Amino acid sequence: MESPQVKFTQLFINNEFVNSVSGKTFPTINPTTGEKICDIQEGDKADVDLAVKAARAAVKRGSPWRRMDACDRGLLMFKLADLIQRDADYIASLDTVDNGALFSTMKGCALNVVEVLRYFGGWADKIHGKTIPIKGDFFCYTRHEPVGVCGAIIPWNFPNEMMGWKLGPALCCGNTLVIKPAEQTPLSAIYMCSLIKEAGFPPGVVNLIPGFGPTAGAAISEHMDVDHVAFTGSTEIGRLIQQASGKSNLKRVSLEMGGKSPNIIFADADLDAAVEESHEAIFFNMGECCSAGSRTFVQEEIYDEFVKRSVERAKRRVVGNPFDSKTESGPQIDKAQLDKILGYVEIGKKEGAKLECGGKALGCNGYFMESTVFSNVTNEMRVAQEEIFGPVQLLIKFKSQEEVLEKANNVQYGLAGGVFTKDLDRALTVANSLDAGSIMVNNYSGGGANVPFGGYKMSGIGRDLGEDALVSYYEVKTVVVKVPVKNS
Ligand code: ADP
Ligand code: MG
Repeated sequence: MESPQVKFTQLFINNEFVNSVSGKTFPTINPTTGEKICDIQEGDKADVDLAVKAARAAVKRGSPWRRMDACDRGLLMFKLADLIQRDADYIASLDTVDNGALFSTMKGCALNVVEVLRYFGGWADKIHGKTIPIKGDFFCYTRHEPVGVCGAIIPWNFPNEMMGWKLGPALCCGNTLVIKPAEQTPLSAIYMCSLIKEAGFPPGVVNLIPGFGPTAGAAISEHMDVDHVAFTGSTEIGRLIQQASGKSNLKRVSLEMGGKSPNIIFADADLDAAVEESHEAIFFNMGECCSAGSRTFVQEEIYDEFVKRSVERAKRRVVGNPFDSKTESGPQIDKAQLDKILGYVEIGKKEGAKLECGGKALGCNGYFMESTVFSNVTNEMRVAQEEIFGPVQLLIKFKSQEEVLEKANNVQYGLAGGVFTKDLDRALTVANSLDAGSIMVNNYSGGGANVPFGGYKMSGIGRDLGEDALVSYYEVKTVVVKVPVKNS
């Protein structure tokens, strides 16, 4: 696999690729080389207004999309899934060149989108209300109606996959979308719009505005005619999205944000498996993963051995060209993120954590960083409380189950958690006791299209994926009908 040719660089409104109103463009950069890939049309408020108009017209009562039979809506989603499967290599290569993530990871993401669209496409004709036996001579029923125009603000770490996670539940419930990809990674999102047209979705159902957060993103979250906004990204920006809703039309808000997830290794765990899974839990996708196992708690009996093996493993990790199948990590997304991570390495050293390996940039044109391990970390340190979003493993020692549960939950986030132990009672107690949305026992990788994903506490509001994602995308209408008594 090599760098792909970019076919589309424009906004997508009403099933047409168009230039931005301002005519401005912005470059998208390949983090492997630091070089520009191409210029992209830059949308802002004026373009968001046009996209929202298109999305509103497409979801109005009487529109082709609104009148479409639910099973046909599902069939369109299956068609889109087929097209993404057909072009999965190309979509993955666009993401790899745009964000530096491994081609194999981005291919897995594209195939996950295929599953997600099929899963939610299957829901399209199964979303229905109830009949309710109320008091009196009435027939009472509920209808699940689309919320309307849904904004979606997407991050750069898993570009094609995060777009799929937003498309699935929104489309199957009959909504329309205005999507903004991250400014660092617009390429796969723009290409996927061409597949939306090819699949045969009516104009205006999906619209895409590449651009920056404070302009295009804010225009979506502040818009008076957007009914719902789904955001995946940092907690800092999630807070702004929620505020923008409060200051505008109180649009519904779904947030999937940061994490600082505990991964707890008890002394009785299978050590080889625990070392390897804990390594992947933090180093997967260069640490650019909101659910990363970014605080590794290790019981004191095995702590020194675990540190030794984790350092050996990190030193062996192959960092390089993300298109090469032997590579385990590509570059970080951009210079700003790399500098932020390097800043946290300095903070960790100052706080008294012991730098066991790594800690530096690789010093080439791309934004590569050494795989880094700190031991002697305590849960109170800033490095253990703040999201670093990079290849930095933090090993924290603990004595008892009670102590580790208290520490694991002592953080503002609550996205995920892991526990490694052979003791079933302990595994279940820990799983029940962690304040987090996804718990993995003796693994740190399980999930799927039908598995809800999202956060407790400051990690989020609402769920992506699974049946639980649907509730954010429909309104419940109650209808009460008077029944003439003489005929019943
Ligand atoms: P990171 O800090 O990891 O880049 P962000 O939360 O900043 O993550 O970005 C996630 C998404 O949110 C991106 O699409 C970005 O453009 C968008 N975004 C950033 N700032 C704002 C904002 N003020 N309003 C709306 N969206 C924003
Ligand atoms: Mg940012």
